[in-house]
Amino acid sequence: MDIHTPLKQYFGYDTYRPLQEDIIRTVLDGDDALVIMPTGGGKSVCFQIPALLFDGLTIIISPLIALMKDQVDGLKANGVSAAYYNSSQEGNEQQAILERVYSGQLKLLYVAPESLALLSQVLSERYVSCIAVDEAHCISSWGHDFRPSYQQLGYLKQTMPNTPIIALTATADKATREDIVNQLSIPRAKWFVSSFDRPNIQLDVRPGVDRMKRIVSFLKANSGESGIIYCLSRKLTEQVASKLAALGFDCAAYHAGLSNEERTAVQEDFVNDRTKIVCATVAFGMGIDKSNVRFVLHYNLPKNIEGYYQEIGRGGRDGLPAKAVLFHSFADVVQLRKFAEGAENETVQLAKLERMQQFAEATSCRRKTLLSYFGEELLHDCGNCDVCLNPPQWIDGTIIAQKALSAVYRAQEQEGLNAIVDVLRGARNAHVLSRGLDQLKTYGMGRDISWLDWQNYMVQLINQGLLEVAFHKNSVLELTPSARKVLFEQQPVRLTVPQRREEVKAKKSKEPRSQSANEGLFEHLRKIRLALAQERGIPPYLIFNDATLKEMEANPPRTRTAMLGISGVGQRKMEEFGDLFLQEINDYLNLLTGKKDTALKSLELFEQGLTVEEIAEERAIKSVTVISHLCKCYLDGKPVDLRQFVSDKDLERIRALRPLLDNTMQLKPYYEALNQQVPYEHIRIALTLLARE
Ligand SMILES: [Zn+2]
Repeated sequence: MDIHTPLKQYFGYDTYRPLQEDIIRTVLDGDDALVIMPTGGGKSVCFQIPALLFDGLTIIISPLIALMKDQVDGLKANGVSAAYYNSSQEGNEQQAILERVYSGQLKLLYVAPESLALLSQVLSERYVSCIAVDEAHCISSWGHDFRPSYQQLGYLKQTMPNTPIIALTATADKATREDIVNQLSIPRAKWFVSSFDRPNIQLDVRPGVDRMKRIVSFLKANSGESGIIYCLSRKLTEQVASKLAALGFDCAAYHAGLSNEERTAVQEDFVNDRTKIVCATVAFGMGIDKSNVRFVLHYNLPKNIEGYYQEIGRGGRDGLPAKAVLFHSFADVVQLRKFAEGAENETVQLAKLERMQQFAEATSCRRKTLLSYFGEELLHDCGNCDVCLNPPQWIDGTIIAQKALSAVYRAQEQEGLNAIVDVLRGARNAHVLSRGLDQLKTYGMGRDISWLDWQNYMVQLINQGLLEVAFHKNSVLELTPSARKVLFEQQPVRLTVPQRREEVKAKKSKEPRSQSANEGLFEHLRKIRLALAQERGIPPYLIFNDATLKEMEANPPRTRTAMLGISGVGQRKMEEFGDLFLQEINDYLNLLTGKKDTALKSLELFEQGLTVEEIAEERAIKSVTVISHLCKCYLDGKPVDLRQFVSDKDLERIRALRPLLDNTMQLKPYYEALNQQVPYEHIRIALTLLARE
């Protein structure tokens, strides 16, 4: 069966991504499939293409009504017959959908598991060709997002034994995967596990010092882009949002404390590019299908790697470069530990937090660390994370370590990290004095190292297992057995040089800005798209996504055939928007070349027989400018009759003056030498003529 034509015709793409083709053929052959694919990896196509090729209906079971609506809108925009069915619809609306099923017109029907019961007449092999279970991890109590309503789905296979079932999810560990297959009664399902790598997302982890300042400079460097800033608490989302708003950034706060209406408004404004930045708790993002999120910042350390991966995965779904920047501090860890304490699965939560902390403190490729968590091995360093881009510099840290450990030892393991740094730095604050810490032998022994660097070294010592944080005792620092080897047996310690803030900045400004010959076309098309979207009341990406517009900028199509060759331009979108975008591209590029070759335009008119004054009037520029255009063209080797503008006498006088004036091309010395008798334009023309002799 030809599975490429519908991909091109409806979605505008020439090729499938890895695994998609195999999955589609499996389903078309009538076999069941389990698909584990990260968000943004192209899961939906795996059931949408078979749905278009099957005679009957494909039912998609999905947990979120918001997500269903987005998917259906996207399909309709591509000319696909799709609908969703839920309890919020009017009876006649539901009836109309059923009619389309019975008459075989409808290809895809999205439904929440709770509403399946309402569709009992439809659920037979007479109408249904395929069933897709999206977010399939919800079926398993092992999964992180268990939904009891998913557990009734096992009967589907019993009712329709010959209908292929495709189960899809973005996160599922091994136990969850097996559970999905068992509960759906699809033991012979073929498994497709795709890579979790999202190479277009740049991973960056930074210490949480001066977060606000760093975020502001990041936002300035990425102005106009859409992004999310995740914060640990509701209060923090509002604080960060109001600070940024005061600085003129277009942003909103989002958290569970807002009313339903407020949350929907923030979400819709973000999806529709009306709000650029959302400061949110982790409640934000589930069910948001927005392809052009260019950055995801974490103001605090996330509580586990699954969450972090899911959150950064909201960036760059269009495959274009996106940035994930994580700020973390020791205080975040203390706070997160407090949240976890007393929770039902406290041990699991604390262990997951520890893995997260290890990721943040890693001194090797971040992506390797991240993927290994999901059981995937990356053979090479990624080259697109802060460690790869700016490898840590190792130094002999034995003496630094000895000073720090000795301070902990002398403080009798009764002080926290900040107090120990104060002791080393010889600080005279209330805590130090009241506890008599200024009497310790190590007091002031580390004045040569800055406070921030000390803090960084201490964290490294904790991560190297030389110091331990006694979380149950007010987070005081304790020595480990290995610490004693450093203190008493001269065991060497290696540390990395803390990154200077200036260095981080310098690195940032080196980041290449995308340059193209058609500079600005992308931005221009984005504006056109926004206007069209607002006119129609749909999100802009439903017209064309950013990747498609970028391709139009890099490779501007000038014909309909060329337009259809752009990824993301299918038949339906060509009909609806193709001509309009072609026109815009043509106009824009003409304007651009017009700007560049303004001198040539003057020459063109000159060759048509217009005088300098007429050209000036026609083009609304000064005649001096026209003369300079003609001179430029003459110097570029164009045949321009400049001799007519200057008399033989003047030309000879200027020729004679040249050696006396050091052959300068400046006009004023000649003007003065000629007693201000010869106009500047004539001098310029004479010099131009002489320069080419
Ligand atoms: Zn890397």
